[in-house]
Order: sequence, then structure tokens, then C-alpha cells
Amino acid sequence: MYLKGEKVIFDLVKNELKKSVPNDEFSRYISQLTYAEDESFSDCVCLNAPNPYIAAWVQTKYASKIAGTFQELNGTTPQVIIKIKHPRARTVISADDILQKEIKTAKSTLLNPSYTFESFVIGRSNDLAFSVAKAVCENPDVLYNPVFIHGGVGLGKTHLLQAIGNAAVKNNKHVIYSTCDQFTNEFIFHINNHSMERFRDKYRHCDFFLIDDVQFLSTRESTQEEFFNTFNDLHNDKKQIVLTADKNPKLIAGLEERLKSRFMWGMIADIQRPDLETKIAIIKKKCEIDQIKISDEIVNYIATILEENIREIEGALIRIRAYANMLNQAITIDFVKDTLKDYIKEKHENITIEEIITTVAKELNCKPSEIRSKSRTARIVNARRMVIFLAHKLTQNSMRVIAEYFEMKDHSAVSHSLRTISQIIASDAGFKLKIDELSSKITSVH
Ligand code: ADP
Ligand code: MG
Repeated sequence: MYLKGEKVIFDLVKNELKKSVPNDEFSRYISQLTYAEDESFSDCVCLNAPNPYIAAWVQTKYASKIAGTFQELNGTTPQVIIKIKHPRARTVISADDILQKEIKTAKSTLLNPSYTFESFVIGRSNDLAFSVAKAVCENPDVLYNPVFIHGGVGLGKTHLLQAIGNAAVKNNKHVIYSTCDQFTNEFIFHINNHSMERFRDKYRHCDFFLIDDVQFLSTRESTQEEFFNTFNDLHNDKKQIVLTADKNPKLIAGLEERLKSRFMWGMIADIQRPDLETKIAIIKKKCEIDQIKISDEIVNYIATILEENIREIEGALIRIRAYANMLNQAITIDFVKDTLKDYIKEKHENITIEEIITTVAKELNCKPSEIRSKSRTARIVNARRMVIFLAHKLTQNSMRVIAEYFEMKDHSAVSHSLRTISQIIASDAGFKLKIDELSSKITSVH
């Protein structure tokens, strides 16, 4: 029901985009897109483009705008994926196939089938959440009820929640997966249509109640009341409840105390930002799933420069593949650096050398003024090297500006310094680890 609605919404999205996108770009790119109903899910809109060129263009330039327009019209922000439509791949679908598919879709209540435990990479940052999710799947209501998973954007909450759903559906359990937005919208719809019995019929009869993004639960009293009653009914009936949010329940503004306290009854597990090792494992897994062939050097490069979140890493991989297809290019390290260049600069445009100096000084226990000075003490030289490396990697300053800042002769002195640092990084694992940690610290506040 929600999916069908999204197809209609995509037409509305197109109409909206027409108002803000230049005419020629609209007709050349946006108007060529079609909604890929079979591949879209509640949090992921898949659009077909007629060729790789249009796909890459739209993915790079318009994906976030399209997602934003969906948000305006529909209340939820989906991930937007542009795929290339291969007309030859179309097969004739029998009525039986359609029926089977409908049954499956109804049963899984719009779960993304690729979000499974098997496709989830476990690391230090998410192993508790993963174990808890797996455990409640195997023993619902025995161990922890409710389970509350929290963590920043794009760190795998929805993936884990839907993995529970997919595994439970396989065990013939009745699963409700819904975002809090959806819950709120449906509640308001049924109130206005005097059809609350249908709403309650849906939400109060299930084995697994999986609710995503509870930070978006409406602050309206009536919605919270309904959520509270739903929660209590299901909990009394020993149905497994799993919730996610971007923060600990205690810290969600506008949430009634009685809901907060219930959310904290069971098990709270957080997902942290992935460490370098986990990022590498995730990139390898994604490449394996999407059949992208890249060297270990490239995997390490992507893992080091992208700090933010896993969705962003996926975006980078999509971009690399799309450009490589479009330009018929082998995926080399230089090609990847070039493809991701704007992306990184854009991301870090607010980072300053001053800020890097402050962070490095604090971390290495020295004074910012010492780093700026001409001191040749080994400790200070080391700190200064880290600053130069990070300034080059994370800020938009050219080598000339960095040279001026440190009163070095010219840009070739910076270049020489960077080469020395690269050699140290290659031979000294401790130095490299420190650089990665500092880089992650600096970018995390942006
Ligand atoms: P959140 O709900 O926390 O914002 P998602 O669950 O939507 O994040 O994750 C964003 C993307 O990153 C998804 O495509 C998901 O498959 C992927 N992802 C996140 N964590 C992992 C992981 N540990 N292993 C594999 N993929 C992951
Ligand atoms: Mg999510």
C-alpha cells in the first residue's frame, strides 16, 4: 500500500522538481527517470535511468534533492538509488508470479530483503547491538523486551531492525515494521477517517513490533497516547518489541516520561561509528555483493578518507562504479581519488588549520604555539608533521597556503614533507593509527 503510494508520489516529486531544476536539465535527465517499483522499499527509492550517463549525472547531482522532495511530500527521507534500466532483461511475469510476490510483500510488510544478518558486518562498534538483535530473533520475549538500539545516522540501525524482521518472517512470524513517521501518519489518517479499528487491528496483532526512528514520534499528545497503549498491549501479550532512535531514550526531546521509562525497561544497545578495520570489512562486503572489483589499496583509501557513515561509503562506491562504467575506465587508485575529490573537499570545507593544530596539540600533549614554532624537538616535529598531513588531507588549503602558514620556503617544501610523512605512515603502524584517530576526531565534529 505504501509502495503503490510512492509511485504516485514520485510523479508529484517530478512536478516539484520541474519548478526548481533548469528546463533543459529537467527534460534531459529528470523526465527520463521511472520509478522502479520492484526494487523500492519504504526507506529506499530506486529509479531507473535509460543509460549510465544519465544515471551517474542524477545520482551525483540530484539524488539528495530528490530525497529532500520526497521528505517534503511524504514525511520520510528515503535513500535514492539510480539504476540503469536494461530493456532486454525484462521477462514476462506470469499471474502466478505476481500472486506469489504479493503474498510475500504483504507478509514482510515492506522489508528490504537485502538487510539481513548475513549481510551485516560485525565490528567493535556494533557487536553488542548485533548480538542482541540476533538473540531476540531466536528467543523473542525471553531475553530482552523491549530492545532499544540507538546510534548516529547511517550506522546500520535500520539494517539491523529489518534483519530481525526478515529472519522472523522466515520463521513464519507476523512482523510489523514501521517508521515512527509512518505510525504517526497512519494514526492521523485513521482518526480523520473514523477507522481506528483498522489501525489497531494492524498494530496490535503481531509477533514482532519493529519501530524505526522513534525520535520522530510526533509530540502530539494523542499520538504518544496511542503509541503508549500499543506498546503496553503488545508487551503484556509478550510480543517482542524493538525500537531504534538516533539517541538514548533519555535524551529524546518531547517524549513523555512514561514512554521514556518503558523504552528503558529492557536492553539498550548503541551502535558507534565504525573503526577503520570494520569500515574496510564493510567496503569489501559491499564490493562483493555488488560485484565491484577494487584493490586492497583502494579499499584502504576509501576507508581512511570517508569517516562519516556507512551510507556515505555506499554512496562513494556507487559513484565510483557509475563513473567507471560511464567512462569505460578501469578502477585505479588515481581514478578513485579523482572521482571522490569534490566529495571530500565539499564535506570538509569548514575545517581549518587552527582547529587541526588545537586537536593535535591536545592529543599529543603539547602547546599549539610549539607546533607553530620552529622547534626541532622530535616530539614537536612529529606533531607538526601530523598537522601538515591532516591540513592537506582535510582542509581546502593549497600547499602554498600551508607553506605560508608554517613559514616554509614554498609549496615544494610541503610536498617534500608530505612524502616523508607517507613513508612514515607506510612503515610505522602506530603513527598511522594516531593519524587515523585524529582524522576521525576532527571530521566527526563537522
Ligand atoms: P541508520 O538506520 O542507522 O541510519 P542504515 O541501517 O540505513 O543506517 O544503514 C545505512 C547503510 O549502511 C545501509 O545500506 C546498510 O546496509 C549499511 N550498513 C550499515 N551498517 C552496516 C554493517 N555493519 N554491515 C553492512 N552494511 C551496513
Ligand atoms: Mg534508519
